[in-house]
Amino acid sequence: MSNEKEVPPPEQYLGPEKKPNEDDSTLRPRNLGEFLGQKSIKENLAVFIAAARKRRENLDHLFLTGPPGLGKTTLAQVVANELEVEFVQTSAPALDKPRDLIGILTNLEQKGVFFIDEIHRLKPAIEEMLYIAMEDYKIDCVIGQGPGARTLQLPIQPFTLVGATTKAGNVSSPLVSRFGITCRFSFYEAQDMEAIVRRSAGILGIRIDDEAAALLSRSARGTPRILNRLLRRMRDFAQFQGQSFITRQVVEEGLRRLEIDALGLEKYDREILRIIIERYGGGPVGADTLAISIGESSDTLEDYYEPYLIQAGLLRRTSRGRTVTPLAYEHLGLRGGERSGQNGLF
Ligand code: ADP
Repeated sequence: MSNEKEVPPPEQYLGPEKKPNEDDSTLRPRNLGEFLGQKSIKENLAVFIAAARKRRENLDHLFLTGPPGLGKTTLAQVVANELEVEFVQTSAPALDKPRDLIGILTNLEQKGVFFIDEIHRLKPAIEEMLYIAMEDYKIDCVIGQGPGARTLQLPIQPFTLVGATTKAGNVSSPLVSRFGITCRFSFYEAQDMEAIVRRSAGILGIRIDDEAAALLSRSARGTPRILNRLLRRMRDFAQFQGQSFITRQVVEEGLRRLEIDALGLEKYDREILRIIIERYGGGPVGADTLAISIGESSDTLEDYYEPYLIQAGLLRRTSRGRTVTPLAYEHLGLRGGERSGQNGLF
């Protein structure tokens, strides 16, 4: 099954390995006020949180979907902080045996937030246990083995499950239907990205001028995680040049050295577009064939590369496969986009 494949961490995006001191936790917003952008998600959640607190009940289960690095894990923690309850975090592949889930749910404090990342990768047996846990706050435990085995239902404390996924389409409908609140993350607007870069620079003690902040914000693919990483790289470049703050010139030079272009595309993104154009006449080409051509798993292609290429208007997903748009030809300085357009593909 393709969704069983190992998904590489998103830091692959920026090539250099993650350094121990680049722990995102220092930059993670802790409450809704610090969580910038995603206005409608925040506004609705603020109401639901306030209402749950007023009723002294647990918040309804929350389903978070969207590309990596947009703040799903962060928001789950923020929700727990706002509710002033315990936060327990795991990811679906780590829930191997039913006892893993039983262990967590029986220990979770009342109204606590239980966050499962990559929820599309749950094993069927675990998923079924979750159904009853989410609905009735009970879990089925099998005691003993063989013909003498019997099932015991254990009550658990009411809790809030927060499930996050980059692949909402791969989550089964019985599971989706048990979440009372769904939040779909979209790439951040430029002004929100600028606010995030200023906040991060302040926390890290980095000085950055307005033009540099604006340019960096436009080059980070609408993704806070990428923005924070780029900010750290720009600090490296500035310090290397003996400068005490990040200027537009530092950012321009830094982006050039990292091979990030004006749209925020990296070398690998351009490679994907180029392969579709040069080997497959602009498309359509099936996702699996394309993944093999670029030497990546279909998961990596679909989760980490495609969403932004689609958002930037360079790529389309059609029923017959992936197709580049005339803008992709233009962006790469290649000819041929008009011809494909005449084929009725665009
Ligand atoms: P996801 O779980 O969607 O992959 P994360 O929650 O891990 O993304 O977010 C990645 C990093 O981006 C966080 O550590 C945080 O520093 C930053 N970040 C995410 N969302 C926001 C936001 N709304 N405001 C400020 N920083 C954010």
